Amino acid sequence: MPEFISSEMQDLRSRVESLLIDLEELESSDANDLDRRKAAIVKSKEYGVFQLTQPKEFGGAGAGPLALTIAREAVGAANSLAGRFVLGPDPGVLRNLDGELRALYLDPVIQGEKRWSFAFTEVSGAAAPEKQTYAIREGDDLVVTGSKSFVTGGATADFFATLVNVEEGDGLAAGLTMVLIDRNLPGVEITRDFKSLEGGSHVELRFQQVHIPSSHTVGAIGEGMPHAMSNIGEERLQISAGACGMGIWTIRHITDRLTAAHRSGSRLSDREGVRLRYADMRIDLYAARSALYRTARLAESGEDVVNEAAATKVLCTETIGRVVDTAVQLAGGQALIEGEALEQMYRRVRSLRFVGGASDILRLSIARGIFDFDSGRV
Ligand SMILES: Cc1cc2nc3c(=O)[nH]c(=O)nc-3n(C[C@H](O)[C@H](O)[C@H](O)COP(=O)(O)OP(=O)(O)OC[C@H]3O[C@@H](n4cnc5c(N)ncnc54)[C@H](O)[C@@H]3O)c2cc1C
Repeated sequence: MPEFISSEMQDLRSRVESLLIDLEELESSDANDLDRRKAAIVKSKEYGVFQLTQPKEFGGAGAGPLALTIAREAVGAANSLAGRFVLGPDPGVLRNLDGELRALYLDPVIQGEKRWSFAFTEVSGAAAPEKQTYAIREGDDLVVTGSKSFVTGGATADFFATLVNVEEGDGLAAGLTMVLIDRNLPGVEITRDFKSLEGGSHVELRFQQVHIPSSHTVGAIGEGMPHAMSNIGEERLQISAGACGMGIWTIRHITDRLTAAHRSGSRLSDREGVRLRYADMRIDLYAARSALYRTARLAESGEDVVNEAAATKVLCTETIGRVVDTAVQLAGGQALIEGEALEQMYRRVRSLRFVGGASDILRLSIARGIFDFDSGRV
C-alpha cells in the first residue's frame, strides 16, 4: 500500500499521476485516436514513463515488478483514454529472442515500428487437440495449418506469436511450439474481425499451409508452453494492478456521487444501508490491493510467484467486478446510460476474468500447485 512504499516509488506514482493530469487536456480536445496516441507517447517519454516497460538494453528504464505495478495501478486509477498509450511496448514472450530473430521481431517491436499479437486460443468448437493448429516439417520449413481466435489487435499486427503443435517426423523434436508468423505470408487470412464488450478489437485467423523457416520459433521446438507461459506471472500482475487502479477510480467516483445532493433532500451517503454497501467496496479493494502489493514485492525480490500471481489475478479481477457492480447499484439507473463513466467502467472490467486465464482455470492451477507440486504460498 502507498504508505509502505519507498519515497522513490511514491515519486514514481506522483510522476505517472502528473503525466495523466497533463494529458487530460488532450482528452477534451478533438484529437483523433492516432493523434491522441502520438501526443501521449511524446509526453510520456518526457516524463520517463513510456520507458518503464522497456528493457535497459533498449535504452528503457527496465522497471521491476513493483514499479510497474505502481505505474499500472496509477494509470488504471486515472481512467483516461490516453492512459492506454503511456506505457511503451514491452517484450513479453519475445524477451529472449536473439540474433536474426531479435533484429526481425524484437527490436522493431520495442522501437514501435512493428506490432504483434499473441495467437494462443483455438477457435471454439475446434475438436480434439490433434485437430488444433499444427505444423509439419517440409525441408527447412515448418508448414502451419489451423485457426486461432480472440487474437487481440490482430487486424493491425505485423506478425503473430502463435502456439502450434509440431508433428513428429524422422525422430526430430515435436510438440507444442511458439512460432512467429508474418501477417503478409501467403496462406495467412483474417476470417473474422470482432469487438468485445470492453471495446477491444480481435480477429480470428486461418493459416492454410503457411511456410515459415523452422528457425522462426520462440525457444526450441516442443517448448512452446513454457515460453507461452514465461510471461504469464507478469501479465497477471499487470492485469491485477490495472484492476485495482480501476477500483480506486470507481470508489472515488461513487464517493462523489453519494455525497452529492440527491433528489430526496438528503445525501445517499447519510443512509446506513448505503454505508454498509460502500464499506464492503472499500474492504474488498483493501484486500485486493494488499494481495497485489505483496505479490509485487515477492516478484521484485526475484521469487517465483506463479501461484501468487494467479491468486492475485482472481482476487483483483473478481473484486473489481463486484465493486463496479455495487457502484452502479448505488448510483442508480443513471449510471447505465450509454457513455456514462460508470457504464463504461462496467463494460471494461468484465473481460478481465478471462484474459490471462479464466478465473476457474486459475483456481484449478492454484489447487494443482498445492496437491501436485506442494508449491506456492497461497
Ligand atoms: C477481451 C479478451 C481478449 C483476449 N485476447 C486474447 C489474445 O490476444 N490471444 C489469445 O490467444 N486469446 C485471447 N483471449 C482468449 C482468452 O485467453 C480465453 O477467453 C480464456 O483463456 C478462456 O478460454 P475460453 O474463452 O476458450 O473458455 P473455455 O476454455 O471454453 O472455458 C469456458 C469456461 O468453462 C469453464 N471451464 C473450462 N475448463 C474448465 C475446467 N477444466 N475446469 C473447470 N471449469 C472449466 C470455466 O468457467 C471457463 O470460464 C482473449 C479473451 C478476451 C475476453
